[in-house]
Amino acid sequence: MNSDAKNVLRERIELLHPKNAVKNMNLIGRMLADNREMSVWEHDTKTLPLGVRRWRRRALKFAREYIRPLAPEADLHPHDYDPKPILSAAARKGFQTLLFTPPIGSASTLPFLRGTTLQIAVVGEEFATECGGLALLLLAHNLGIVPLLLSGSIRTIIRHFFPFYIKSRILGRPDCMAFAITEPGAGSDVEETEGGAMANLVTTAKYMPAMGGYILHGQKCFISDGAKADKVTVYAKLEGEGIESWTCFLVEKGMKGFSVGRSERKMGQRASDASELIFDNVFVPKKNVVGKLRSGWANNRNVLNYSRPVVGAMALGHGRGAFERCLEFCRRTKLGPKKLIEYQEIQVELADMMISLWAARSMIWQSCRQFRCYQSASAAAKVTASDTAFKVCNQAMEIMGDHGYIHSNGVERAWRDSRLTQIYEGTNQINRLALFEHHMSSDFYIEES
Ligand SMILES: Cc1cc2nc3c(=O)[nH]c(=O)nc-3n(C[C@H](O)[C@H](O)[C@H](O)COP(=O)(O)OP(=O)(O)OC[C@H]3O[C@@H](n4cnc5c(N)ncnc54)[C@H](O)[C@@H]3O)c2cc1C
Repeated sequence: MNSDAKNVLRERIELLHPKNAVKNMNLIGRMLADNREMSVWEHDTKTLPLGVRRWRRRALKFAREYIRPLAPEADLHPHDYDPKPILSAAARKGFQTLLFTPPIGSASTLPFLRGTTLQIAVVGEEFATECGGLALLLLAHNLGIVPLLLSGSIRTIIRHFFPFYIKSRILGRPDCMAFAITEPGAGSDVEETEGGAMANLVTTAKYMPAMGGYILHGQKCFISDGAKADKVTVYAKLEGEGIESWTCFLVEKGMKGFSVGRSERKMGQRASDASELIFDNVFVPKKNVVGKLRSGWANNRNVLNYSRPVVGAMALGHGRGAFERCLEFCRRTKLGPKKLIEYQEIQVELADMMISLWAARSMIWQSCRQFRCYQSASAAAKVTASDTAFKVCNQAMEIMGDHGYIHSNGVERAWRDSRLTQIYEGTNQINRLALFEHHMSSDFYIEES
């Protein structure tokens, strides 16, 4: 083809592009056609309630300003970086108090009433797009708080949330909480009913009426932010009873007998610690019992229903981070006569990655769009998003070849980070069982009449 023919073809292609072709429609037709040049991110954001939109934009800004520059170092040297400045900045900006509405929290009120976790989920995706470890550092704290919220006790909520809000939002003190159910002999077991019935639990609480509280003895492991947390919601069986007696206790840093053991060397999400917590006859006053005695199992299962969509949202962030870096790479890298992005095979692969992420996001948002999170929707969203994210990270590495494999590009980090989202908050097998359990005695869809 000579150069004139090439120019004619180029002009014709330009004319046929939907954004130009639409000019031939009449006014009403043009009004009904949406060919605005807008990113998918912007399009999606506009579908959110106003308050949630604001948090999504703020989170994107925060992630780029604070998380992006710290991420490579925090991932490589997780024990050497100082987490306080970023915790403090997040606290001041209200990211640590999104589990309640004003005057004791920073979540937008109306959207919160229609979707308790949606605001945290959109923030989680943005943070995790830049770094899974730093996202977990900032978000595991919410997991520690949910048991207090689910305790249903107004006194507990006011006593803990109000001072926390003042310290966090106004003073910017990097307070954080952790959630502890896992024990050396009980991982999946405490996240699934049949496993729970057979779980080999050691952490036990003994009632001491004369002392006005409980003596806690035992051990937890793999607790995210465990080494940094100021307070931990810990689940323990009552002495002489089984898991049906599980009760949640609020254990505070500095309580005698409470200490942090080993912090694991992790493959991904390395900027947040996963630590052993040791309870050596720790006295916990009665006022630190969270909710009713023996309500721990129900509380724990519902905490997971609230947190799984957020873990799914974080996974989505890892996948999106890998996708964005891969796209950038394809735009600037030449293969033979043209840029990678100009090959249709690459466009098809990138579109496939984009579509999978989009589908997973729809599911996450759908599962968050209700006041009460429910088991099957939360489990399904977490499984879909984490499996999708890992697959997308793989695709990104495939396209980028050796460039995807080196640390500075962030894609291998996203790959490592995303793998964890298939494991914690219940492995994806356990989440599939949770979905089935929810509908075991009801129909999945409409019953036959
Ligand atoms: C980095 C990290 C951070 C974590 N953070 C926290 C935290 O903050 N707080 C906390 O309490 N816990 C935390 N955990 C623990 C985490 O939730 C558990 O590790 C996870 O639920 C899996 O438990 P497990 O490792 O004991 O696996 P196991 O229970 O030993 O499972 C091993 C395998 O068996 C499969 N399996 C088990 N039971 C069944 C079954 N009935 N049917 C089919 N397959 C089954 C599992 O899917 C898995 O493939 C964290 C873990 C990690 C790795």
